[in-house]
Amino acid sequence: MNVRTELTSDFTEQLKDALSRHWGFEEFRPLQLEAMLSVMDGRDSLAVLPTGGGKSLCYQAPAMCMDGLAVVVSPLIALMKDQVDALTTAGIPAAAVNSSMSVSDRRRVMDRIQSGELKLLYLAPERLLIPRTIDFLKQQQLSFFAVDEAHCISEWGHDFRPDYRGLSSLKTHFPRAAIHAYTATATQQVRTDIVEQLGLNSVVPLVGSFLRSNLQYHVLKRESGNGQILELLERFRGQSGIVYCLTRDDVDRVSGQLNDQGFSARPYHAGMSDRERSVNQEAFLAEHCDIIVATVAFGMGIDKSNVRFVIHAAMPRSLENYQQESGRAGRDGAEAECWLLYSGADLMKWKHMTSDLSGHALQLALRSLDQMYGYCTSHRCRHASLIEHFGQQWEAGSCGACDVCLGTVNVMDDALIISQKILSCVVRVCENFGADYVAKVLTGSRDQRILNNGHDQLSTYSLLSEYSLKTVRQWIEQLAGQGFLSREGEYRTLAVTESGRRVFRGEQVPALARPTDGVTASSASGRVGRKAPDSWEGVDQELFEILRTLRREVAGDRRVPAYVVFGDVSLRDMARRRPSTDEAFLQVHGVGQQKAKLFRKVFLDAIVSYCRDNGVATDATGA
Ligand code: ADP
Ligand code: ZN
Repeated sequence: MNVRTELTSDFTEQLKDALSRHWGFEEFRPLQLEAMLSVMDGRDSLAVLPTGGGKSLCYQAPAMCMDGLAVVVSPLIALMKDQVDALTTAGIPAAAVNSSMSVSDRRRVMDRIQSGELKLLYLAPERLLIPRTIDFLKQQQLSFFAVDEAHCISEWGHDFRPDYRGLSSLKTHFPRAAIHAYTATATQQVRTDIVEQLGLNSVVPLVGSFLRSNLQYHVLKRESGNGQILELLERFRGQSGIVYCLTRDDVDRVSGQLNDQGFSARPYHAGMSDRERSVNQEAFLAEHCDIIVATVAFGMGIDKSNVRFVIHAAMPRSLENYQQESGRAGRDGAEAECWLLYSGADLMKWKHMTSDLSGHALQLALRSLDQMYGYCTSHRCRHASLIEHFGQQWEAGSCGACDVCLGTVNVMDDALIISQKILSCVVRVCENFGADYVAKVLTGSRDQRILNNGHDQLSTYSLLSEYSLKTVRQWIEQLAGQGFLSREGEYRTLAVTESGRRVFRGEQVPALARPTDGVTASSASGRVGRKAPDSWEGVDQELFEILRTLRREVAGDRRVPAYVVFGDVSLRDMARRRPSTDEAFLQVHGVGQQKAKLFRKVFLDAIVSYCRDNGVATDATGA
């Protein structure tokens, strides 16, 4: 072994040990080890991992294995607080400094830094960059800088924060310290921008797979009223989830209605006071309510790992937003569902909201909306569509975890022929007209414009006259959504794309929805059913519920979010293994040494007495 590989395997052992000792995890998630090794090596790095990919551990574990203090830049106080709570509960010396703290609290943190006790310090960029902080940190031994939510530095990103811009001076102030950037935003432009702004040296970005295989995606056309939402929520009673609405009024209305129906839901939007908002957020984290009904104002910095469903009551404005918002489900890797309800009216509303934009920004916004609407109307596998949007290749066939692959969407059998008719009509009108016009030609409309243009003489005129104008119009939308048609220029005229040409040759077959019999929530859920996930195998569900209640109480006493005590996956594993000894307790997924020390007594007591009362065996073997 040469020195380098020897070092690497040495580092790997140290990291594995830290992972198991402090976090109770036995395996790295994809790319975590690679990301951690660049930190240990002191090479600048950029890691792009999807939400739930486990970015925080990429810097937290190395921070525990290296000398000195790791400085973590994070955009929100709430985000820092949750991270520090989680770390502290796991016995890791971490702290945040922010404007909400008293001078003496801040002083105490500085003392802990000076004594070399603290391993991780969380700061917002504006605080890090004040000269006093810089001077103080220059005198400390630093292990590295970690920039969380690094896309906030880029104007190209969907969450630009001007305060992040200042971070470009970090390298000047600390030329010898390595900087590591983390984000879930995958566009090339944003990535390049992050590297340039932070001045990262010779970085090869580590880009994880955007496939979230534990999530099941469904898309439904929204009907009027909130019946669909209520119907869906019935399926998730007692579980944690988020319902995203477009406007504050929608939030208030939906959350009121849910409470009337016996759900425990709380609203969250920017029109509420800071206090109301944080009370409701805390209630959600502490599991005093099951559902948060929110605008997009809710979410960033919510690390709650056991969100079991995310429902969008309306279409988001981009696939980036959708990926991020729906991605808040199932961070713990256990199964979760994402439902999206959309209608053409959402598209109009968003377009209206972009009317104050102009030039390039307007183009970008409209393109995002088209892609988003395309996703809703398309009948391509949702997982495939999403990861392809993020520039990754779909290699599997059917995903088995979306409405399309599960066959809950009704598709036309003769989609190829219909698509060929539509595409050839687009060509016949010389790619000079928009969707409405093309649909009219195909259905044989006597519209004056068509007659004036002589388009009633085309071979494709009236070719689809057995279908309604509305149906044909929707199919055009679906073809655009699946990338067979594109829209060009100011008048958004239709053009046939490269893959559209493959349809002519019969090399590719689009999916077109069957008209009229739209899928409702009930027919979809009825057919899919809730597949018992592997992760429930062998789990004593009654015990699981008891442990959940216990978790809520323990978390309440410690004033931390419930999942900080143990995640759902840990509770399931506990209810599966039913440990009765300290040793067996340490074997449970997500139980590190500190958490074992803190919680084993209460949890073991509950498990042992449950097993005794119900005649269930403890210490299940083979679990
Ligand atoms: P991200 O910031 O990328 O969205 P987090 O760092 O919040 O993701 O991690 C998501 C969840 O996954 C957390 O509950 C975390 O404890 C868990 N997790 C991270 N790494 C691992 C691992 N190697 N094994 C098991 N769980 C992990
Ligand atoms: Zn699929």
